[in-house]
Amino acid sequence: MDTTTVLDTFRKRTALLEGHFKLSSGLHSTGYLQCALVLQHPGDAEAVGRALAERLSGLGATVVLSPALGGLIIGHEVGRALGVRAIFAERTEGVLHLRRGFSLSPDDHVVVIEDVVTTGLSTRETVAVATAAGANVVGAGSIIDRSGGQADLGVPFHALAALSLPTYQPDACPLCAAGVPVVKPGSRAGTAKS
Ligand SMILES: [Zn+2]
Repeated sequence: MDTTTVLDTFRKRTALLEGHFKLSSGLHSTGYLQCALVLQHPGDAEAVGRALAERLSGLGATVVLSPALGGLIIGHEVGRALGVRAIFAERTEGVLHLRRGFSLSPDDHVVVIEDVVTTGLSTRETVAVATAAGANVVGAGSIIDRSGGQADLGVPFHALAALSLPTYQPDACPLCAAGVPVVKPGSRAGTAKS
């Protein structure tokens, strides 16, 4: 599964909409991305996970660690493809922790898996969870890199596709200025395809 195939899958599942959108943050954007709309299809999730695992296969990972909730399904599928454990960290009072009896040791070589990397903040927090447990973080991966290549994760990073979806304050939005009608994703999910 190459970059084009990944993005075609996202478009087919209406997980990637291109146009003029009002996001839940209130910002306007030229695109809308919702990985859950791909990952809700187990066959797609498995295929995307296998493709991401192939990019990461040289890292020698012995366990996948993902931040809940966004990284959970793709982390599980990457773990399946690599034949290693897939565990997740959860936020309590704003801080990521290992719970549910999950553990890491200095013998573990961890790859951190996310659905989307935007600023890289949650990936770095997840790396820190593994490091604090004494494990060795060998790399990170995501389906989509929205960082414009700017995310510094401190470990080797691989994404299946890079996307640039700029956001604007409504009063500075060039699409509004050009008179393009704005769409709120979710409200017309079936008709908002580009
Ligand atoms: Zn706008």
